[in-house]
Amino acid sequence: MLDDKAVRAIREDFPILDQQLHGKPLVYLDNAATTQVPRCVVEEIARHYATDNANVHRSVHTLSSRSTKGLENARETVRRYIGAASTREIVFTSGTTASINLLASMWAARLRPGDVVAVSALEHHSSLVPWQQACARTGASFEVVPLDAKGDVDLAALEKLLARGNVSLLSIAHASNVLGTVSPIKEICNLCHRYGTVVSVDAAQSTRHETIDVCELDCDFVSFSGHKMCGPTGIGVLYGKAELLESLGPVMFGGEMVDKVRFGESTFEDIPIRFEPGTPNYVGAIALARAIDYLEDVGRESISVYEHFLVGEVEKGLKEIEGVRILGAPVMRAGCVSFSAEGLHPFDIASFVDKKGVAIRSGNQCAQPLLNEVYDDGSICRISPAFYNTQGEIEECLAIVDEVIGFLRRIG
Ligand code: PMP
Repeated sequence: MLDDKAVRAIREDFPILDQQLHGKPLVYLDNAATTQVPRCVVEEIARHYATDNANVHRSVHTLSSRSTKGLENARETVRRYIGAASTREIVFTSGTTASINLLASMWAARLRPGDVVAVSALEHHSSLVPWQQACARTGASFEVVPLDAKGDVDLAALEKLLARGNVSLLSIAHASNVLGTVSPIKEICNLCHRYGTVVSVDAAQSTRHETIDVCELDCDFVSFSGHKMCGPTGIGVLYGKAELLESLGPVMFGGEMVDKVRFGESTFEDIPIRFEPGTPNYVGAIALARAIDYLEDVGRESISVYEHFLVGEVEKGLKEIEGVRILGAPVMRAGCVSFSAEGLHPFDIASFVDKKGVAIRSGNQCAQPLLNEVYDDGSICRISPAFYNTQGEIEECLAIVDEVIGFLRRIG
């Protein structure tokens, strides 16, 4: 596990952390929303624009070759990071939301009335609404797999649904951005495949602290975002098994993704370029690859163990604050802990906590169905540490949350 000295050294890589907010040192604990970016990633973006910038895949000139090489090397870095069999399986998008929308639009072409698309009850809107809309357009049914009392996906209910034999696809988060539930993706993929159901995994929350080996887990599709793993915004990935991607037709058209274009008809490129029309965010992809190198330098296992420890500390500390309700108690929790305090508005808690220099999230966390229809708790606060947070910061945050809750109760 990362020790104090290692974490202090890591913090040096993140210039943003070294600042005061409202006269207090910043404590950034909203990493489930966006992680901070290490200096090497910022420098990589600047370096590319300063020395290598040109459009990719289009020209023979040297700068274009450098940009193209950077993009394709980035594809290889992503492939290696998630254990994909081939770079043909790595589609660059603008983020998880774009990846799932792209997949849902393409998958809709094969949905018919009588087919089912299932999502778990803990999905982020991005892993739910695109499928809900695909079903509405095609007449397929949209089904929700419930959670058990602890906030884990109910696998018995899932199997019952799969046994109907008409579930085309399951959309499921690897790690929940609200409950922190880490779902047993390998088991779920095995189960789904037994019934001929394809699995789309939303890995937005898990790529930093869980190891994702798509071959080992046997996922069919995986979506994730650069900005939740120390990369920049505006870049993400849709991984798909080659044979599945090959079976899908493009839904966005334009430059690069075509093979031959005639006034009468067009043919399209091979995967993955078929799904990357127009100028891709090649600088974002190159910067994401740098972020991956950085995470690997710190050590994936070390990050995972340390972040699990910090989340455990958050959970333990919140349990000691009177009147705090922690959402869920899943078998395995990672990344974040969400809570509410009876009679108090999460917006007020997060605003007063911010005045003490501590950034935590409040709101519906883009999971309205989970909060309104499962937990009856429309809005919550969420604390989500990353590997550059210290144990001291967690203690400080918990003390401030305790103090703010006490204060808000007093002023009633
Ligand atoms: N799924 C989950 C579980 C998330 O936490 C998020 C981001 N909060 C998303 C999807 C959407 O990611 P993005 O906004 O980067 O597209």
